[in-house]
Amino acid sequence: MVAIHLQDSVQDQGEYLFGLLFSILGLPCRFVAHRRQQQGQRVLINYGKPLSARESEEYLTPEGWLIDIPSYPYLRGVRQRAGKEIPEVSSTVSYKEENIPFYYPYQRFSPSEGRVLLYYEDGSGAVVEKGRTIQFGFDIVASAGYLLNCTEEKLVERRDKIGRFKAQFSPRWEMGLLSQATIDRYVNILREIITCCCRRQGIPLVYKWYWPCGKNFAVYLSHDVDRVYKREFYTIAAKTFWMMKKLFSGRLRAAVSDALRLAKAVLSRQNDYWNFEKWMDLEDRYGAKSTFFFLKGRKVGRYGRRYNLRKLAQVIKTLSQNGWEVGLHGSYYSYNRMDRLRKEREELEAILGRKVRGHRQHYLRFDPEISYSCCQGAGLEYDTTLGYSDRAGYRAGTGFPFRPFDGQRGRPLDLFEIPLVVMDGALDRSGLGWKDGEAANYVIKMVEQTAASHSLISLLWHQSSLDRDDFPGWGQTYEHILKYVKSHNGWASSGEEILKWWRAREQCQYEFNFSQQLNTIVIALKTPYPKELCFKILFPDGQQRLLRCQEGEQRVRNTTVVVSRCE
Ligand SMILES: [Zn+2]
Repeated sequence: MVAIHLQDSVQDQGEYLFGLLFSILGLPCRFVAHRRQQQGQRVLINYGKPLSARESEEYLTPEGWLIDIPSYPYLRGVRQRAGKEIPEVSSTVSYKEENIPFYYPYQRFSPSEGRVLLYYEDGSGAVVEKGRTIQFGFDIVASAGYLLNCTEEKLVERRDKIGRFKAQFSPRWEMGLLSQATIDRYVNILREIITCCCRRQGIPLVYKWYWPCGKNFAVYLSHDVDRVYKREFYTIAAKTFWMMKKLFSGRLRAAVSDALRLAKAVLSRQNDYWNFEKWMDLEDRYGAKSTFFFLKGRKVGRYGRRYNLRKLAQVIKTLSQNGWEVGLHGSYYSYNRMDRLRKEREELEAILGRKVRGHRQHYLRFDPEISYSCCQGAGLEYDTTLGYSDRAGYRAGTGFPFRPFDGQRGRPLDLFEIPLVVMDGALDRSGLGWKDGEAANYVIKMVEQTAASHSLISLLWHQSSLDRDDFPGWGQTYEHILKYVKSHNGWASSGEEILKWWRAREQCQYEFNFSQQLNTIVIALKTPYPKELCFKILFPDGQQRLLRCQEGEQRVRNTTVVVSRCE
């Protein structure tokens, strides 16, 4: 159906990036060595040097269509960036009332060159249809790679005191682009362009739906277990420090309120930082599950652990036995030390009695250049650290799970990254205010955007944050999100479950064929498939249907859809 021709090695990651975009798309594609279109390839994507009008005439089959995406070195008037220049957005494309940024130089089209399908923000043409060719004016593939590889972190040297790349250091921050999952928008643009080619040919498009049982979107829920005792030494010491600071800076009221809370914490018999059962009850009420990340540092201290993992053995087992995931919260010093991380995983596994798959680094210390391979080498299956400590946002431009590219070996790692998007503490620090519900509205807006693009959003609420005295409103915000997910047909689950699904969906291969009159569409499954899988059918007249994947014949509008297994 869709064939991709990578013209040369301009982009060493071309195959990786197309593979990733099509994996999110849920659409089969094949890489071909020749740009001459073969029968059955209804859509041919050419990536590299754009084809001339004569070439596209020559290479296309009588019914086929071409999508021509220029790799940026071939764009008109291009000078390649050199040195350590701070990267910037080249321009933006208007798409569904949003401005979608892209990187690298670009080409503008005038309306006389063809029918404009997408516009730049200045009103000139960004994607045009000329005959049976759809021509891009910008490099959507390299732009995806730019975001996915965290390229800006290689170009911007600033880090905070503990070595983190913060949201405010990102050139995308000032442009208000961090809260946009840009790669997920690229995927939607690609699908729309492919759908356009199909419609012009009067044929349908069939792709794998994102989430099980036709769920509209997904939310990954997680809790870092940093502290479990409210009266623990370092917590009390930190609170005393902040109270004194307020006192000496003349903020008397705030200091008194801190002092009262501190006194309550010290004198009370109740430990409001122990919330495991409350989280389970709360999530259970909304049919949700989550992941708890436990810390196994060597030393007790400010950056070290605040509890003895062995003393938590019972609750760790209870969580796991009831279907919650137990993951590793890599200690402060382990983000670039594979052996230490491996040891921490093994120690947690010894207590848990089963494999630990997921990981998030304490303090979100993470260097994409080192930490991915560290996690893989330490025997972990996925990481979910890639987010910001000071703001909500998409650090790699996507909310979907992906395999990071290993530059040294020239292929993707086996490890998955599920990017972290919202951390409770980051919202608090960004000064959005929890009291009047602004932060809650902000997160809900991001969840709404996720629902609209059928994507995934990953949330982190610390285990202790259900304590109303120290974290007023945080628990309510979380519950508000759970309510929204349930009432909007979303799926809230643990990282392990989400990744299990994503892999099963990715591994399911299929082909689809149809009769020209559209009496029949045949979906032939080439591999085993999860029974919760659905297919989306886009008909050439614009109608669409979601279809549960079960072998046999089903009637959809005036068409018989046959789902069969081909061995
Ligand atoms: Zn932590």
